[in-house]
Amino acid sequence: MKKRAAKILCSACGQESFLVCEPIFEGLTKTGEKRTCASCGHEYGAEASVPFVEQKGPSLFADDARAAKVEIFKDVPRGKTCRHCKHYVVNPFTQRCGLHLKEVEATDTCERFEPAPPPEPAPPPEAGAPAGDQ
Ligand SMILES: [Zn+2]
Repeated sequence: MKKRAAKILCSACGQESFLVCEPIFEGLTKTGEKRTCASCGHEYGAEASVPFVEQKGPSLFADDARAAKVEIFKDVPRGKTCRHCKHYVVNPFTQRCGLHLKEVEATDTCERFEPAPPPEPAPPPEAGAPAGDQ
């Protein structure tokens, strides 16, 4: 997804410029965003105080909200579903987690996920066995 730079009319330098958004981290947790003028580096506080030039008012914020949401879920590892976990045990009646000893769904995710080893390759045909001979 391409995020367009937001145009602003900077209240500090008076230039038509772009807003630079940088995430602020406290440890590994994103605590906020720093918004600065790309032209003069003036730092803005709340998003409401940013002098956007954009014509399309409400949808800009909708886009922003969506981007923030993506940001939050970006760190969730993908593919860590029980189906691909080495602890996943499936039989005709139930699917279980061999680690937590409980029923699971193939699409469940688990923080104790460990990738299952790749399936064993088919054993080679026995040496000397007649091939295709009935
Ligand atoms: Zn500026």
